[in-house]
Amino acid sequence: MNTTDCPECGYEILSRLGTVCPKCGHTIGYFEGEKKKKYGKFFALTVFVPFISFITILFSSINPYTFYASIFIYAYLAYKSCPALFKGVTFTKYEKVLFWGVWIIFNAMIIAMIYNNIVKGFESGS
Ligand SMILES: [Zn+2]
Repeated sequence: MNTTDCPECGYEILSRLGTVCPKCGHTIGYFEGEKKKKYGKFFALTVFVPFISFITILFSSINPYTFYASIFIYAYLAYKSCPALFKGVTFTKYEKVLFWGVWIIFNAMIIAMIYNNIVKGFESGS
């Protein structure tokens, strides 16, 4: 059995979910301590980055210069939110599949949108 230090009092307890610390009564949840912070950051990135990219590309597509600039911004954000960069977080196999799945789906959607904009731009271009 894996043990961990209680995040409240530092007493050594089992790291299993639902373990109640015998010293202070803290219950071990899914997200604890450092893991909680990193997960928070990761969740914010996986949700907000595609959203921001989507809005940026949507509004910048009026002008070809801002549109291409937004693609660069998007590429940078996509890179920064890539699950491969979150080495500090110990993912279980299921979490890895979930995060990669979300990242790939969102990015595939945005790339499809960029592609559609480019095709439309060429069709209606001067
Ligand atoms: Zn405790």
